[in-house]
Amino acid sequence: MIAMHRKCPSCQRYAQWEDNPWRPFCSERCKLADLGAWSAESYRIPEEPGEGSGEEWSEVGELL
Ligand SMILES: [Zn+2]
Repeated sequence: MIAMHRKCPSCQRYAQWEDNPWRPFCSERCKLADLGAWSAESYRIPEEPGEGSGEEWSEVGELL
């Protein structure tokens, strides 16, 4: 029998697939780490220049 192993997307190590509650990750730590990175990425709000920053930029341009 060949044991089924998959590469952990988080740490890139081969982890047991069967009877692994954290698959496709090798461990709970890797699963949480990946979920944390994913949510941090998706919840990142793109910075939009407000009126204040726009004023600052134009002032700098004029001074230079
Ligand atoms: Zn891992």
